[in-house]
Amino acid sequence: MKQLPIVNSPTLTCTLPVSGKKIKYRPFVIKEQKALMLAQQSEDADAINETIADVILSCTGGTLVYEEAPTADISYFFLQLRIASVGPESRFSIQCKSCEHMVPVELDMSTINVDMSKSSNVVMITDSIGMELRYPTIKDAFDVDKYDPNERNTKMLISLITKIFDADSVYDVADYPDSVLEEWLMALNDEQVDHIQKFVDNIPELSHNLEFTCPQCSTKQSRLLEGLHTFFRIGNDSRQS
Ligand SMILES: [Zn+2]
Repeated sequence: MKQLPIVNSPTLTCTLPVSGKKIKYRPFVIKEQKALMLAQQSEDADAINETIADVILSCTGGTLVYEEAPTADISYFFLQLRIASVGPESRFSIQCKSCEHMVPVELDMSTINVDMSKSSNVVMITDSIGMELRYPTIKDAFDVDKYDPNERNTKMLISLITKIFDADSVYDVADYPDSVLEEWLMALNDEQVDHIQKFVDNIPELSHNLEFTCPQCSTKQSRLLEGLHTFFRIGNDSRQS
């Protein structure tokens, strides 16, 4: 038996919004699309994460690792992968807040972006003392569950700080044990902590404000679509009409 000819996929490029990394990828194939749909039907978060991770790894030739990239980069990349593989249009239903009617909506996914305008990974705590942080990855989100709920926020924050600096020096946090960093954070006042909270509140994420009018009761409303799992669900719910 002669080997069947190998069908190559096109190679596409995508620039990740948070890290700025350029990723080469191919669209997903039918086998992978089926795996994604099965994961979606299972409604099991672990199965969904695992399948998305596998598909991203295969489609990027191992260059984009799900757990290691900032969450917004993964959400954005997965959306581009979906667009390249099955197209930008998505049709799904949203429940009306007023009469509970299921409203069919259409969304052009190519219009959705990660807004980086409010985000900054450098936080000034005083006029001269500041810190540099990294944006959380999916692995960080998993790690949060390991911590005691009372110290979760502090532990998470410590894991995100990469540098502390003042007018004269830069302090690499890798050189300091967590206990020293924790003590340093605990010595900050409310106002100083607010600056850090701003970083947390503005961690970039893939989001889109969808506006629609219910055909049943004419109520004009909007819904904020945000995060990988939301867009994953919408991408797979797409009904052909
Ligand atoms: Zn309605």
